[in-house]
Amino acid sequence: MAKRSMRGTPKEKDIRAYWSTRLQAYLGQDISPETIMDSRFCFGCKVFLNKGITIQRAHIRAVSTGGSNSVENIHMLCRYCHKASELKFGEEYRGWLKGRDLIDTGLTLCAQAGSLKRDLLEGVGK
Ligand SMILES: [Zn+2]
Repeated sequence: MAKRSMRGTPKEKDIRAYWSTRLQAYLGQDISPETIMDSRFCFGCKVFLNKGITIQRAHIRAVSTGGSNSVENIHMLCRYCHKASELKFGEEYRGWLKGRDLIDTGLTLCAQAGSLKRDLLEGVGK
């Protein structure tokens, strides 16, 4: 029996091919199609991530709230961006994605390592 979560989800290559000519307009940012086709490129951080960081298929609108399983409803996000975007969709998601960068992902990584408060917040204002 097929796994429920991935059944019917398009292949990463097809998702990237669809967005390779559309992500620029969606974000209002200049990103080359070659960059978008690279399997290490996260649409959220907008950088090439190390091979150890998994990039996941992320629904723009969750299937549970009526989102489809087609390429136009799926972005390729690293697991940190994916988690941070979970409750966002529509224009809220788009605005969030526009402003998302590597610093946000770095903060997520620090927070997960338990060092956000100690290393970053306690240093502010001193
Ligand atoms: Zn990311």
